[in-house]
Amino acid sequence: MGYAACELMLRKNPKRVISYHVTRNINYTNVCVSGCRFCAFFRPPDHPEGYVLTDAEILEKVSQVFVQGGRHILLQGGLHPDLDIDYFCHLFKYLKHNADVHIHALSPPEIIHLSALSGLSIKEILSRLIESGLDSMPGGGAEILTPKVRLSLSPHKCQADEWLSVMACAHELGLLASATMMFGHIESLKDRITHLDLLRSLQDETAGFSAFIPWSYQPGNTALGGEATSATDYLRTLAVSRIMLDNFSIIQASIVTQGLKIAQLALKFGANDIGEVMLEENVVRATGIEHKSNIKELVRLIEDTGFCAQPRPLFSCRQRATADDSSNDHQPTNNLGISQAWTSN
Ligand code: SF4
Repeated sequence: MGYAACELMLRKNPKRVISYHVTRNINYTNVCVSGCRFCAFFRPPDHPEGYVLTDAEILEKVSQVFVQGGRHILLQGGLHPDLDIDYFCHLFKYLKHNADVHIHALSPPEIIHLSALSGLSIKEILSRLIESGLDSMPGGGAEILTPKVRLSLSPHKCQADEWLSVMACAHELGLLASATMMFGHIESLKDRITHLDLLRSLQDETAGFSAFIPWSYQPGNTALGGEATSATDYLRTLAVSRIMLDNFSIIQASIVTQGLKIAQLALKFGANDIGEVMLEENVVRATGIEHKSNIKELVRLIEDTGFCAQPRPLFSCRQRATADDSSNDHQPTNNLGISQAWTSN
């Protein structure tokens, strides 16, 4: 299956390009009202370890990304009961005013939370965020997109159809988003396939997903507990993802959960992006797992596997005139910045 997945990847990627990325995952708050059973990161409101970073602290973290040769940040937090749409619009404008940063922020559960706090529609929330500087959206909070699994894992978080409808709305507004799947906990193999099928169908409609990142559940310090799934299961699931999601341009390995060696092996199982130099990561680290890397090491891992290393292009929202994907010479792209070779097959 790995061989088939790698063959499919190479058929659409004859130059054998494998991308990598430099980013920083800035968790602006760990306060969250959702209480997902698989999460070791969050703290409930009023918990003594709860925090909200100041604007200046966030900007300081952004500036360190530039020092390391990147300009991309992932902003993700808990569902804080007091951080509303005005807070994020102000924060995004402040960051854009002070740095030429690519803001990849707020996954569907956070968007739905902002909508509930303000009474504004999802479309209004997304439009205001785009106007304020949001460039693209992470696909967090997907876990497994079946009602039964979600009700058990995260009963207070958005349901599968809500997650998909936020993504559909984002794509309609020209906002590219990644998609994820967290697997290896209580779900069945059928649930994983249902998840992939839902993503594939939406991608056929919108072509708005820029990448798919499957990652495995890490049980340390979580209420759910249990065992982490094997590297074999991870690689097999990655290969199935490449085969099923033939309309996704990037299938990304997960250094954060799998480490460098398995991420390198993933390139032979259909991944065409090795993952990130993550300057800061707190969500998976809260489970006791930490894998670090640097650009030189990622390039070496890619080249040692017989591929050509290239920085991952950044895709900005098409509504704004900040086209910043000049580094992308993979393929011609459609109006969302996605390679036509991938979306037309
Ligand atoms: S996964 Fe996200 S929404 Fe769920 S408890 Fe953790 S921070 Fe909150």
